[in-house]
Amino acid sequence: MQREENGYIIISCDFCGIDWDEVIPMIEGHHGSVICLSCLKKALDNASPSQDDFDCTLCLQHKPQHTKHWRNTIATDSPGLNKNAIVCWDDIRLGAKTFHKDKDIDFRWDPTKYPPEKD
Ligand SMILES: [Zn+2]
Ligand SMILES: [Zn+2]
Repeated sequence: MQREENGYIIISCDFCGIDWDEVIPMIEGHHGSVICLSCLKKALDNASPSQDDFDCTLCLQHKPQHTKHWRNTIATDSPGLNKNAIVCWDDIRLGAKTFHKDKDIDFRWDPTKYPPEKD
C-alpha cells in the first residue's frame, strides 16, 4: 500500500508492513496494493482453503468460500501494514511467475509443485 509521510510517498508491503527501500523485490496489484518477495514465498508454502468468501487485496476479485488463499498471521503494527490483506492463489502463482522471470531476483520456482486450483 501507499501512504504519505512528510510529503513523501512511502510504498510498503500490505502483508507484512515492510517499507520499500528500492531494493526489496515487490509486486504491485490493483489500487496500490503490494506484496513483497518474502511474503510471496510464505504464501506459496502456506496457502490454504478459506473458511469464508473474501475479496482479494491484489486482484480485487471476490472469491468464494474454500478458495486457496494466504494472509499474514504474524502481528506487527507497522503503519504500512494492511491488516485485512488477503491474496488469492491465482495471484500467488502470478507473483511467483513474475519474480521468477526477473533475473535480478534470487527466486526460482517449479510451477508443477504449485498447480492451479481446479474448479
Ligand atoms: Zn511482505
Ligand atoms: Zn487475487
